[in-house]
Amino acid sequence: NAMISTLVGLLWLSIIVFITHGKPLNLREIPIPKDLALKLSRNPQILSQASTDYGHIIHENPFAVLEPTSISDIANLINYSNSLPHSFTISPRGQAHSVLGQAMTQNGIVVNMTQLNWYRNGSGIVVSDCDVKNPLGCYVDVGGEQLWIDVLNATLKHGLTPLSWTDYLYLSVGGTLSNAGIGGQTFRFGPQISNVLELDVITGQGNIVTCSQEKNSEVFYAVLGGLGQFGVITRARILLGPAPTRVKWLRLIYNDFSAFSTDQEHLISFDRRNDSNGADYVEGMLLLNKPPLILSFYPPSDHPRITSLVTQYGITYVLELVKYYDTNSQANITEEVDNLVKGLKFVPTFMFQKDVTYEEFLDRVHSEELILRSKGLWDVPHPWLNMFIPKSRISDFNEGVFKGIILKQNISAGIVLVYPMNRNKWDDRMSAITPDEDVFYTLALLHAAKEMDEVKTFQAQNHQILQFCNDAGIKVKEYLSGNKTHQEWVEHFGAKWQQFEERKAKFDPKRILSPGQGIFQ
Ligand code: FAD
Repeated sequence: NAMISTLVGLLWLSIIVFITHGKPLNLREIPIPKDLALKLSRNPQILSQASTDYGHIIHENPFAVLEPTSISDIANLINYSNSLPHSFTISPRGQAHSVLGQAMTQNGIVVNMTQLNWYRNGSGIVVSDCDVKNPLGCYVDVGGEQLWIDVLNATLKHGLTPLSWTDYLYLSVGGTLSNAGIGGQTFRFGPQISNVLELDVITGQGNIVTCSQEKNSEVFYAVLGGLGQFGVITRARILLGPAPTRVKWLRLIYNDFSAFSTDQEHLISFDRRNDSNGADYVEGMLLLNKPPLILSFYPPSDHPRITSLVTQYGITYVLELVKYYDTNSQANITEEVDNLVKGLKFVPTFMFQKDVTYEEFLDRVHSEELILRSKGLWDVPHPWLNMFIPKSRISDFNEGVFKGIILKQNISAGIVLVYPMNRNKWDDRMSAITPDEDVFYTLALLHAAKEMDEVKTFQAQNHQILQFCNDAGIKVKEYLSGNKTHQEWVEHFGAKWQQFEERKAKFDPKRILSPGQGIFQ
């Protein structure tokens, strides 16, 4: 009897809590100040756009989309939400190239960051006045909504360039800085978050703050890699260096994982600032004996022998590296490339190279995008898996995941990237999470699905990979992850969880921002 009455009591309590606190917020019932209401759109097409992303897996319906015409519009919206007894959620949306609803909000308000471009009126990217011949201290101030491709084009006009890149440039600055922003230059310069000198942020409390390592440093470190949890980035000051004009772009094919990873680790151990013999970019990928075998990089005349190597081994590994150069420089680029590859243990004669402009190289994924778009294969579901793997377990990962799961299962592989980076180029005071080893690898399993059934198949494989790592005690950290339970997020942040939670309580105590990450709501 006592147990039944306790259960009934608990039931009543939860009903009361639901009625008073858990009631889903209905923005229709709230009077929205007129000046704010004027900037909100409930146009069905705009709402529908804001309810999806590049993943095409998760859909959340916002109440409205804020089309800001100034920074203060965003601050006013955040302040208004804070002023209510039951706040509504707000999600800044850059390019929505997230794959698991990270830039969405159910019933809340999405902020269309791109709209700020009108407010900037051409001043969204401002390159500092500096001496290109002595570029130490050169930087660019960019709006959080700006695209990296536009940052590249603007800085190149001054003979300058940001140093650290993602593979794809049609992403917003605020979006990549909320994650980390990684690519083939990360081993040298760190992720994009390591190349930020200063930020303007509107915190979750509606305060407009300028921050850096010296000024308001806690907001600065919280926001970088902070998954949009602490504030909206409205400006970032990014470090620049001299821009090369051309690149030698190489791919070397390996039939042995140990040789491949040893060579990758060797290449990232150079510090190019002190050693001009090193590479400027190092990545890697798998070539698997299963469709689709993408060989567009290689000369058509070499396709038969590459295909036959892949068929023979089932799995081969491609080391991708780049050496920048300048057409005006005295250096002999052919000799530099020869020195770079000397001693590397790829399959003899399986080295391929291209000579392209610096922009062509950095913007390479866009050319693929145009092809995929023309075939209707770009706006499809993307059940991706991205993670970091400690170097000490990478060969177990090769055996268990590449050979044991991906190669064996009868499903297409998509693009699989794998390359190492140096932890000392990351700043642990920032919110981004890495494995606890000096060198760790990134894995990007970039699936594209034809329909939802296929999504489930890929998701099951992703799950199996994570389960394998868990069972084998490989302490991976997911990157660009989402769809986690609260407990999984706590485990993801590990020793940094307490700090993350405290920062949330300090900068966004009402848990208003970026609910799509699923960390606090
Ligand atoms: P959104 O998806 O719009 O937002 C991401 C998160 O940040 C959301 O939680 C959002 O609320 C928040 N947010 C957005 N803008 C702001 C802001 N101004 N201030 C605060 N929070 C904000 N990543 C890499 O690191 N390396 C790669 O090489 C790489 N390649 C990619 C290639 C493709 C084809 C795609 C689709 C993605 C790739 N990504 C890569 C992932 C990409 O960096 C992230 O998805 C990033 O979030 C995309 O930026 P976005 O503008 O689309 O962000």
